[in-house]
Amino acid sequence: MDNATGLQYLEAMGIDVWVTRHQPVAIGQATDHPENTFESGGWAEHPEAYQEQHSMQTAANAMETVSADFPRHSAASQFAHANDPIWKDLQHEVSLCRACSLCETRTQTVFGVGNKQASWMLIGEAPGQNEDLQGEPFVGKAGQLLTEMLRAINLKREDVYIANMLKCRPPNNRDPQAEEIAACNHFLQQQIDLIQPKIILAVGRIAAQNLLNTQRPLAQLRGVEHQLGNVPLIVIHHPAYLLRSLLEKAKAWSDLQFALRVYQKLKT
Ligand code: SF4
Repeated sequence: MDNATGLQYLEAMGIDVWVTRHQPVAIGQATDHPENTFESGGWAEHPEAYQEQHSMQTAANAMETVSADFPRHSAASQFAHANDPIWKDLQHEVSLCRACSLCETRTQTVFGVGNKQASWMLIGEAPGQNEDLQGEPFVGKAGQLLTEMLRAINLKREDVYIANMLKCRPPNNRDPQAEEIAACNHFLQQQIDLIQPKIILAVGRIAAQNLLNTQRPLAQLRGVEHQLGNVPLIVIHHPAYLLRSLLEKAKAWSDLQFALRVYQKLKT
């Protein structure tokens, strides 16, 4: 990834870039001079971006090595497995499921999407309105932001596998209930077993707390390498939350950098 592209991704995530006026911008060319300004927002308003900026070169280097270190299966392999009978049967079973009351209010089940041989698996909490209507997890504005977040670490949406804990939308987007998660969990577990990801990202507080079986707040779960079975699990902010909170986008960048470091450590 070249520097300009890297900056575009950071900007798409809402992470302001600290640049000197009238000079071209490049990752790693930041200065420490306080007279420099943010093109948007200003240093005083975005101190976290200053801190993040100093990590850009490291992160950019990491971006370059994601695909090189671990050869990922191409998007074509997703289609090669599209007719895999195990996946087909599982998806069919989900589509017919009436194990909890959410079947009464769903438009359709939302199974999961992506590369079924992915190294990276993302798990959210449950479908929202757009997902319920379209039958795909993480669509709409939050989905677009998630796609940009993935691009920031040099991953395409089709490179990863994305699923939710629940396959049906809770009414009015309320939090999932414990019995619903318990009823649906075996579907998610089968997806994890089939994909065998190298790393899992728990997207948002609800997913993180339930996957890790804890009530600890998100702030305590971020920045820590957890384990789900024998798979490293990293907690990141939910993109819907990030859309509501500009300042948290810088923290999301930190989360992604941390996930990259954990991922790269797997090869050692
Ligand atoms: S949420 Fe899961 S357990 Fe409940 S009806 Fe949907 S697929 Fe079945």
